Amino acid sequence: MSITKEDVLKRYFGYDNFRPLQAEIIDTVLQNQDCLVLMPTGGGKSVCFQIPAILKNGLTVVISPLIALMKDQVETLKGNGINAAFLNSSLSSSEQDQVMWQAKIGELKLLYIAPERLFAGNTFEYLREWNVSLFAIDESHCISSWGHDFRPEYRQLSSLKQRFPNVPVIALTATADRVTRRDILKQLGIEQAETFVSSFDRPNLNLNVLPGRKRIQQIQSFLKKHIGQAGIIYCLSRKGTETVAKSLENAGFSVAFYHAGLPSDERSLVQEQFLKDDIQIIVATIAFGMGIDKSNVRWVIHYNLPSNVESFYQEIGRAGRDGSPSDTVLFYSYMDIITRQDMINNSEQSEEQKELLHAKLNRMKQYAEADICRRRILLSYFNEAVEQDCGNCDVCRNPRTRFDATVIAQKALSGIARTNQKIAMSMLIDILRGSRNRAIMQHGYDRLPTFGVGHDLRGEEWAEYIGQLLNSGAMDIAYDEAHTFKLNAFSRQILKGERKVELVKFIPIAERKAKEEELSFREKPKQEIIRDELFERLRSLRKQMADALNVPPYVVFSDATLSEMAQKRPITEAQMKAVSGIGAEKYRRYGQAFINEIVMFAKENTQPGTRVVNGLTYLETFELYKAGYSVKVIAEKRNLQSVTILSHLIKLKEDGHPIDLKALIDDKSYQTITRAAQEISIRKNDTLKPLFELLNEVYDYGQIKLALTIMEEEL
Ligand code: ADP
Ligand code: ZN
Repeated sequence: MSITKEDVLKRYFGYDNFRPLQAEIIDTVLQNQDCLVLMPTGGGKSVCFQIPAILKNGLTVVISPLIALMKDQVETLKGNGINAAFLNSSLSSSEQDQVMWQAKIGELKLLYIAPERLFAGNTFEYLREWNVSLFAIDESHCISSWGHDFRPEYRQLSSLKQRFPNVPVIALTATADRVTRRDILKQLGIEQAETFVSSFDRPNLNLNVLPGRKRIQQIQSFLKKHIGQAGIIYCLSRKGTETVAKSLENAGFSVAFYHAGLPSDERSLVQEQFLKDDIQIIVATIAFGMGIDKSNVRWVIHYNLPSNVESFYQEIGRAGRDGSPSDTVLFYSYMDIITRQDMINNSEQSEEQKELLHAKLNRMKQYAEADICRRRILLSYFNEAVEQDCGNCDVCRNPRTRFDATVIAQKALSGIARTNQKIAMSMLIDILRGSRNRAIMQHGYDRLPTFGVGHDLRGEEWAEYIGQLLNSGAMDIAYDEAHTFKLNAFSRQILKGERKVELVKFIPIAERKAKEEELSFREKPKQEIIRDELFERLRSLRKQMADALNVPPYVVFSDATLSEMAQKRPITEAQMKAVSGIGAEKYRRYGQAFINEIVMFAKENTQPGTRVVNGLTYLETFELYKAGYSVKVIAEKRNLQSVTILSHLIKLKEDGHPIDLKALIDDKSYQTITRAAQEISIRKNDTLKPLFELLNEVYDYGQIKLALTIMEEEL
């Protein structure tokens, strides 16, 4: 019988089911047809060519521009028991020779190669000798000058199809737009290719927008709920990354900053430490992330507003690539919009370009200010129709309500009018709330009729509403005059009562969080990563193993795999391999060490006589059994019935533990019980009562079950 793609998925990758489109794509490739695959980051593109590579004879050549990633990708494959290697400038020439040799003698299933290496020297001539069965072109948008990441060296790939007309090509990318898509097909000469476009939805990403006040404080309380979890904070400026990193460092977090102004060796070091879980948090500009394949990034925070939705989606997409739930937070305030608008206006771009940038910024603003499901906004941006609200964004969890805020607006606007449009946000709030501080008294603002008219709202409420008023154009802001507020035609209409204003009801952050926690407690997603004590133990074992192999921890096991292991507590080979992400090779390499850790943990945490879920009670019995005690003694030690101990041992045996069941029963009893059982055709999983009675209640249920188990094993 031949091995199927499902077998390969289970045996090598340890997964039970394909994700959407993976199976269709693999079938297409196996039929030697060209194809183009569009899937979001973390969608699972790799298995689309790795499984065909395993199933086909010959070598799959993977072309990728991300040299820094090749080592980890190859290590991951090897970790799954798949022969792979890479060729790029980071290898010495003798190492390269070695790889070429392996390719030549057919030892490799996959070879990762950088495009510039592919076209250097006579690599192409070698390819002819290597029995290439598939070309996989990763990040294939790099071939198009329409894409956001054009790389001239990719252009040479155009000749691939002419030189190897019979070798199928699979091109993969996470970039969606149509122009680029068409261009990829054209450039690669695979116009007839079948195109697969998967949904860009990343349902495991929780989307949140928080008001951009007291950001550091909010981040700190966020981090308290994400202890030890890797994450990225994106800031607008280099300076910003340094300040934010500093304040988190002072608060005791494991953090580093990263931006293009750092020397390159420093940047590589920070990146490496982050990959290896030696640093938990990176505060970075957008320079960070390209070519980061870390699958266990659990959260991404945007300290400032990104310039457009594409960048935003790409950046939050770096969280949760392993499919486990991950959090994203965008801080938003009207100042961020103004800063971005300024940046565009002051840039060297043409007027046309500026208009485009403003339009893109505007879409980002719409996302941030949305009062409908945020995921719907994101996906509609990528031209995906969505039927339902997602339930995993802050708007879905806290549905927004609008109310008539004309009076609120009039109070704020009259505060601006009475001070001759010379005040900014904080002074306006102080006047409205009636604070008698020094600045107010100096200016005599306490004598204004507006003084204190807004004392019924808290400062943060005013800040929120004034921000909303600004965003809706109810007034202007002069950022060249110390951000003072100015009235416009719209403001005057509101003041005269000619126009109504609606605002979105403010929900205090604390209340919001309480509500969200209550909800998330109720609807805890199945795959949620539960970081209990055992998880932490397993995580530190994973780290030790990864360090010994000099690979990032997620190359050993993903967070999702680790979490499932901590919950199911597998102690046998079969149980371990049933954990998602553990194939045969992973088991061979790490299985026993992790089982030992689980057993050790169980022993430290069980009191004799207590019943513990998840098979720990079995483990304790097993330990005593291995120590050579008889069933009777084990029962006494554990303060349990002999029949219970017997049932443990039977279960352990069924789970594959080396237990000599026959030694637990004498021959005569065995014969008597099994003969009686055959007489009335009773098997071990039937109700045993009739047999118990037939045997005149001489043997207990444990002995009966034991005899029947042995009998059926021997059948
Ligand atoms: P991409 O290259 O599209 O960004 P990857 O190929 O790296 O994504 O896959 C992302 C993660 O999803 C990896 O950890 C991978 O092992 C996992 N994965 C892929 N296919 C499956 C599947 N069918 N079931 C479970 N996990 C999968
Ligand atoms: Zn939603």
